[in-house]
Amino acid sequence: MDITSLSVFENRCWVNGQWISAQETLEVKNPLDNSILTTVPVLDDVVIEQALLDAEIAQKKWKNVATGERSRLLRNWFDLLIQHQDELATIMTLEQGKPFKEAKGEIAYAASYVEWFSEEAKRAYGDIIPSNATSEILVFKEAVGVCAAITPWNFPAAMITRKVAPALAAGCTILVKPASETPLTALAIAKLAERAGFPAGVFNVLTGSSTRIGQIFTQSPIVKKLSFTGSTETGVKLMAQSAPTIKKLSLELGGNAPVLVFNSANLDQAVQGVMDTKFRNAGQTCVCANRIYVQSEIYDAFIEKLKVKVEALKVGNGLDPDTDIGPLINRKAILKVEEHIQDALSKGAILVAGKTQNSDANWCVPTLVKDVTQDMLCAKEETFGPFAPIFKFENEAQALAMSNDTEFGLASYVFTQDMNQFIRVSRGLEYGMVGVNTGLISNAAAPFGGVKSSGIGREGSKYGLDEYLEIKYVCIGNIS
Ligand code: NAP
Repeated sequence: MDITSLSVFENRCWVNGQWISAQETLEVKNPLDNSILTTVPVLDDVVIEQALLDAEIAQKKWKNVATGERSRLLRNWFDLLIQHQDELATIMTLEQGKPFKEAKGEIAYAASYVEWFSEEAKRAYGDIIPSNATSEILVFKEAVGVCAAITPWNFPAAMITRKVAPALAAGCTILVKPASETPLTALAIAKLAERAGFPAGVFNVLTGSSTRIGQIFTQSPIVKKLSFTGSTETGVKLMAQSAPTIKKLSLELGGNAPVLVFNSANLDQAVQGVMDTKFRNAGQTCVCANRIYVQSEIYDAFIEKLKVKVEALKVGNGLDPDTDIGPLINRKAILKVEEHIQDALSKGAILVAGKTQNSDANWCVPTLVKDVTQDMLCAKEETFGPFAPIFKFENEAQALAMSNDTEFGLASYVFTQDMNQFIRVSRGLEYGMVGVNTGLISNAAAPFGGVKSSGIGREGSKYGLDEYLEIKYVCIGNIS
């Protein structure tokens, strides 16, 4: 597959309505075989600083564009994303590795944020608050201003649109730095934004050194808000760097999702739910099941059923239509999964399905291990790979205590047919999101986000628009 033949292929940056190159470049590789797909620019500081100035000028005009017009442009962009779904998915599979069918799903999911916020653009309602006979309290919602976004490689399209679409809907302009592993999906999306008709400087994609771009974004007083999705470690750094300029922040950080399967669960539903949340994107999602807690009465039966499904997963080239699990993003990712598997086995866990890796390839065989305990690495850290560790529990209180025994609080899942139990357990889970009898919780209409070290703020839903709006209170007094 020649990536350059795709009509949405682009390897230059999209800055202030221009496609720009740089002398210095970085390589973009296919994780399947580490072959070089192309190179993208490493922008220098002068260009990045100028991009901020241009985005500031553009924002002054963009915030005054009628909401109906902003909505129309977003809708154009949505239509183009859907029309080019196959091409965009091909680029994503080539640079990220996820199976083509999943990549297509991500493009539809990414586009759904653009559609959702094209509609929400018209609904940034303010308030009139009752006061007294001689005054009126008015609340206006205004665009935050110039925003910056830094995104990860695991969802190269959706992590961009769920920041850019609400920003543009609200009247903000935005500069995005995509992950260095997956800039081509971001640039392809920008190419379609250009065709959709957004004015120059409203949406920009900048590639290059993450630390330099991160420093410029966070230090600049022009940038009023930073939205970051990635590891908690990087989120902590960016939060500290943003402190001197008091930026608004949205941080979507790491997870360590528990799945609780109770005795009353519908077993087939629970097994399918675990397959959906554990093995999507080869286990490289922030909402991936990281720890699977199963109640003692159904423990063996659940593992038997899950084993059959895990063993049926096909590992291979993402462009092959039969592939369920593509390559992991890089060697470091493989080594982390290996470390978690070896640690669990060395501390007494039992291998049920899969095997450990010992080749140089970027493959990781889906692996299921039982009798895992809280002292093992996989109980504490995000594995980010196709490794499913099963823990046994006796009662609800114990399951809740083990689930909450982590610094993270992004997604969690519960499988039970007992209505009182799912309400009790949903209340008891210290997480931003709870999936009940389902492993699929992402939806543009829902508020996505975490608590504790998993972040600040929500993306998607009506709350996602508020993240790009400031409240202004106007008091009208002395009314006679
Ligand atoms: P990462 O290393 O933090 O990288 C994420 C982004 O930050 C990339 O664009 C990276 O650029 C950039 N970056 C790295 N160091 C930086 C620095 N010092 N200053 C500025 N930017 C910097 O995370 P990752 O390994 O790519 O992503 C996986 C993590 O993201 C997991 O922990 C996952 O749970 C989390 N995640 C969370 C959500 C959520 O919604 N909560 C969604 C998806 C993923 P380069 O690529 O150029 O290094």
